[in-house]
Amino acid sequence: MKRTLITGAAGFLGSHLCDRFIKEGHHVIGMDNLITGDLNNIEHLMKLENFEFYHHDVTKFVHVPGDLDYILHFASPASPIDYLKIPIQTLKVGSLGTHNLLGLAKEKGARFMIASTSEIYGDPLVHPQTEEYYGNVNTIGPRGVYDEAKRFQESITMAYHTFHGLDTRIVRIFNTYGPRMRLNDGRVIPAFMGQALRGEDLTVFGDGSQTRSFCFVDDEIEGIYRLMMSDYTLPMNIGNPHEITIKDFAEEIIKLTGTDQKIIYKPLPKDDPMQRQPDITKAKEILGWEPKVGREEGMRKTFDYFKTLTKEELERTEHRDFSKINRK
Ligand code: UDP
Repeated sequence: MKRTLITGAAGFLGSHLCDRFIKEGHHVIGMDNLITGDLNNIEHLMKLENFEFYHHDVTKFVHVPGDLDYILHFASPASPIDYLKIPIQTLKVGSLGTHNLLGLAKEKGARFMIASTSEIYGDPLVHPQTEEYYGNVNTIGPRGVYDEAKRFQESITMAYHTFHGLDTRIVRIFNTYGPRMRLNDGRVIPAFMGQALRGEDLTVFGDGSQTRSFCFVDDEIEGIYRLMMSDYTLPMNIGNPHEITIKDFAEEIIKLTGTDQKIIYKPLPKDDPMQRQPDITKAKEILGWEPKVGREEGMRKTFDYFKTLTKEELERTEHRDFSKINRK
């Protein structure tokens, strides 16, 4: 039986990855320090024999007894509101954490994957973004702690690949959504859906002309799994290329949730990328992968998940207005 370590296991993507690797017959070791992760996301796995959970911070020395075949490093805060709240941890998990896990992969002879991000392209001047584009990133802006940690993470992973011959994979993840997102993580989809459920108006930042391209989690996990199992060692974009403006997206959410809320406009946060769309030519050609779930179906599934949250949870996770705290 293959043994696989997944960091960030209690997070949104990490928990879905645990599900997938268990389904593929692996013994999965989930690791998380639970700063942004939530044990509810993996509670259903705790009783399984081929799942173990380690409550551990990967920025400290990582020890895992026994063999390891695969390591997937998915631990990191992943929303602008979290980078502002825990900037140092964000930098450390991408840098020190990655270094520790690379050392572990080398020791165990394991294949190693890092969760990189479209953020390494910054506010992109090339559209759509191909893997060859170097990016346009502000090192000292509010997103810099995440963006630069992720860029360093790619760099050190490639160094272990070329210098130590480590078997590595780099996935550049674009905006992904679905069940188990944190309702108050500040990202636009939980933000809008939480507002719709509370009967509040939807807050669009700026004039809403900035674009994003949203990928449903099942598609994203399929792409990540295929990349992990492929021979491809250069960075690869995995995301959905269907692009929409945030204003049009707010209107779609109003229609989907069947509420009569209005859109209200708030200041655009600093360094908010104006456009984002993955070029997925490589994923199509090399992995035979492309997204299958359309936005309407994916958003409905996600809204159904948020609807299962209790009134108490909704109140506890009152909307945090990112646009207010992110101004210079
Ligand atoms: N956004 C918005 N209202 C919100 C939250 C976010 O208009 O309540 C905007 C945000 O300014 C950005 C887009 O939605 O332009 C996507 O934001 P998110 O934080 O989800 O992802 P990222 O900016 O990291 O792609």
